[in-house]
Parts: sequence; structure tokens; C-alpha cells
Amino acid sequence: MGVLDIVPAGVLTGDETRKLFEYAKQNKFAIPAINVTSSSTANAALEAARDAKSPIIVQVSQGGAAYFAGKGLANDKQQASIAGAVAAALHVRTVAKAYGVPVVLHSDHCAKKLLPWFDGMLEADEAYFKEHQRALFSSHMLDLSEESKEENIAICVKYFHRLAAVGLFLEMEIGITGGEEDGVDNTGVDNASLYTQPEDVYEVHEALSKISPNFSIAAAFGNVHGVYKPGNVKLHPELLEQHQKYASEKVAGQIEKPLFLVFHGGSGSTKDEIKTAVNNGVVKMNVDTDTQFAYLAGIRNFIESKKDYLQTQVGNPEGADKPNKKYYDPRVWVREGEKTLSARIKEADADLGNVDRL
Ligand SMILES: [Zn+2]
Repeated sequence: MGVLDIVPAGVLTGDETRKLFEYAKQNKFAIPAINVTSSSTANAALEAARDAKSPIIVQVSQGGAAYFAGKGLANDKQQASIAGAVAAALHVRTVAKAYGVPVVLHSDHCAKKLLPWFDGMLEADEAYFKEHQRALFSSHMLDLSEESKEENIAICVKYFHRLAAVGLFLEMEIGITGGEEDGVDNTGVDNASLYTQPEDVYEVHEALSKISPNFSIAAAFGNVHGVYKPGNVKLHPELLEQHQKYASEKVAGQIEKPLFLVFHGGSGSTKDEIKTAVNNGVVKMNVDTDTQFAYLAGIRNFIESKKDYLQTQVGNPEGADKPNKKYYDPRVWVREGEKTLSARIKEADADLGNVDRL
């Protein structure tokens, strides 16, 4: 039995996303979430999933979505981020089935000041739902972790009603992911808030489970976005076990691990840290920084090794009349980045046990 016995290939609904996460939790593996910024990076992610015979989470950040629509567009009212998120979703929807893998289509961190972006995506989901009886996306993330716990939960509850009505899954964050990513700068926050308490995680679980079972929690356990020199903040994935235990006791031990947990700032983590996190109910791990670097690597290596073929349209070391079109065609050099990106995603799949899961 594999994932395709549980959910279909193509973009999943919120219910199907929960079923996939439940299967992953029971079988102790997690699914990498890859930030995409273009059809090129999205296709590389889908290709990696097809090759690894595994499901994948494809996600757009607010900045990545704006890039998807085009950096030349104004984004003062989040219009580019909304249009780009919709474009990315429609692209992935159109090609996902051809890759033959289940895809969770997700949007990344949305802080309070970015809620107009969230509203725009949700309106697109509701419009899509009217026509197709399913939302455009599978899942969205709300990140009110900078606000008070009470406000964080209240805003999540308010939006979760609307998400649940069109069958969407919700990821929320409590406790803060340190570091800096995509314009969200948490490099200065107090270290204590980088570790979420079990009571706080359960308070979220209690509030959201009254509405729908389709949600996950990104609890902080010393996570940091980006890759930094080690030493400042320590990752403690063993703390996640306490969240599961506390929640399990609260629901009278009916379920051993009641929570779907999410691992942010996965780049640069050791294999042991990842394994501990997965054993404690992490079903999704975000990998962004490492995949950005991987996308560059193939292009950089190609440009460096073919330098003498890229100076003029005609003329290279093989002769003054030799054409260089097969070197400067973007399908050639961008493709090299897709290959190294895809290889890095497959490495994340291996780390997470997400291989041969179809
Ligand atoms: Zn994150």
C-alpha cells in the first residue's frame, strides 16, 4: 500500500492533505515543502517528486508570488502577490497530474500586515470552489506568531471558518522562527520565544479542532530561517515529543500523536535532527535556502564551464563561424539549474524518508 491508495495524483483538497499527513505520521516520514518562484522552479519540484516516487508540497511565499507575476508589477496593495499566487496555483494544477504525484499546493508565511494577500488568495479559492467544488489551493499558512497568543488564535479561528467552508487546510505558527526570510526579519527576537510551550500548542489545537481537523501547527523548537554559522540558537526537535504527549493526555490518550507538526527553517539541519522531528510527528519540512543555492549551482557551473561559448552569438573556441545558440538558449542553461534543484529536493526526500511512497 502507498500514498496513491489514500489520495489521488494531482493537487489535493484539504481533506486529502489531512489523509496524506495522517499516512505520513503513521509511517514516520515527512514531505518537503519547496518554495517556487517560477514555472521553472515549480516544474523542477514536480520532476523531483516524480523521480523519487513521492508526494510533494509546492508553496509560494508572498515575495515569491510577486516574483511569479513579475517584479515589474506594483505590489502596494498585494496585487502582484495575489496574481502571482493564483498564476502559480493554476500552473501547478495544469501540469501536476502529468507528473503522476500527489501535490499539496500551499502558501507560505502570512503575517498580519500581509493579510490583504491572504484575503486575495482566499477570494480566488472561493471563486474556484463555486465552479469546481474545490478550492484553488490545498492549504494556506497564517503566521501571527509576532502577535499575542490570544490575537494569534483569534485571527486563525476567524479565518479557519472561511477556509473550512471551501475545504482548505490551514497551517499556523506559534512561537517564532528566528532568522530572516523573504523580508520577515526575526533576527532580534528573544531566545525564549524560539521555543513554543506544550500548553500553547494545545490551546491552538483545542480552538481549531472545534472547526475542522484539517490543520497543522508550526511550533518553534529553535528553528531559524536561512543557513548561518552554528552556535547561536540550538535546534531541539526532541521538545516536539512533549507537545504530542501533552495533547495526547488532554484528549484522554485516544490518539498517541494528535498533532500535525511543521518544521520551518529545515535548511542546514542535520540528518539526526530531521529524524527526531519526523519521529515526533513532523509531517512537513520547509526547505528554501538550500534549494535556492541548488538552483544557482547548475546555472553557475554551466556559465563558468561554457564561458567561451557565451560571449557572442557566433564564434567560439571551435571556430570563428561556429554558432552558440545551443549554449545561450535559456532552455539549456536554466535547465541546468532545474537539474541541480531537483537533485537537492531528492536529497530532502531521502532525509525525510519520502522515497518510493507512491
Ligand atoms: Zn518558515
